[in-house]
Amino acid sequence: MSAPSKVTCACGHHIQGRDLLRRGCFMSRWQPIWVYLKYRCSRCRMVGEKLIDYQDWDEHMLADEGVLSEAEGGGRSTVLGAIGDDELREFSTRIRDLRRSDLDALTRDPP
Ligand SMILES: [Zn+2]
Repeated sequence: MSAPSKVTCACGHHIQGRDLLRRGCFMSRWQPIWVYLKYRCSRCRMVGEKLIDYQDWDEHMLADEGVLSEAEGGGRSTVLGAIGDDELREFSTRIRDLRRSDLDALTRDPP
């Protein structure tokens, strides 16, 4: 079996799991046919979409090379603790989606 091909942005950047905004499967008769990926490239910030034939799909396509070897080596316990890009991204998304009422609730004294 050949090495899995990578998911790449138009700029040539290798899209990794942390770049994903959304992923899903297109099913037909309860069989997955396509894997759908939506991503924002962490290099050029472009949002792109990809459909990958399910037969060609491999989780390793999205692997961060640095993290992968560590995870495979069983060193998972060292991963916890640091704030990852995903957490930062989620945080920034929450900030962006804050409404006026949320801010008012923050400045109000607790009951
Ligand atoms: Zn790019």
